[in-house]
Amino acid sequence: MERYSIISDKNPREIVLLRGSGCKWRKCRFCDYHLDFSKDEAANFNLNQKVLAKVTGLYHRLEVINSGSICDLDSNTMTQIKTICHAKDIRQVHFECHWIDRSCIKTLREDFAALGICLKFKIGVETFDPLFRESYLVKGIDEADPARIAEDFDECCLLFGIPGQTAESMNADIETGLACFERVCVNIMVENSTAIKPDPAVIDTFKKDVMANYLHNRRVDILLNNTDFGVGGKSNA
Ligand code: SF4
Repeated sequence: MERYSIISDKNPREIVLLRGSGCKWRKCRFCDYHLDFSKDEAANFNLNQKVLAKVTGLYHRLEVINSGSICDLDSNTMTQIKTICHAKDIRQVHFECHWIDRSCIKTLREDFAALGICLKFKIGVETFDPLFRESYLVKGIDEADPARIAEDFDECCLLFGIPGQTAESMNADIETGLACFERVCVNIMVENSTAIKPDPAVIDTFKKDVMANYLHNRRVDILLNNTDFGVGGKSNA
């Protein structure tokens, strides 16, 4: 699997897909990403340090993703991230965190700030419609108020292309995301091993009636395929 890439379009940064002990939630009905895990910490660190060795510091910004939350990475990997940031003069790092793990965020921010590194935390919200999110997607966010969800986070991910979504609902989700967060990342649902299937008509609606509004918005990333950031796909190496 490809685990290192460079995003040179909006908010240029390097990105690494690391492996941790696994998502603790694992209930999102659309997700099989949580299968990328190992309980073998030494094996994870061995893999992660090879991936981190590819980071050059090109843009002084790094995004670190792993299935689940940043706190699911082993301590040696966390130390290695700090070492690489120091060595490559990386001053901003983006991490992902599930709602249920948000208590780790404050300490991590302080920890990295002491090294001169600003952290940005991203949460997968998928939609701000709490009924759809929790009864259909089973996302595990027991808070309906977008502003409250955003309290600990800087960026959010949205998931479009699911049966039931409309141009109005997708525009509203992006607008809410932009009102409450610094950045929004739109992921289009792609077929995977779960029972939730992408809806081609909804994806068409997104492309025709929503995407153009945000294509050039520097605060909005749009991933028509979940490997568009260059990680997660089959490795050419
Ligand atoms: S929190 Fe993330 S990794 Fe875990 S099941 Fe949901 S989408 Fe998948």
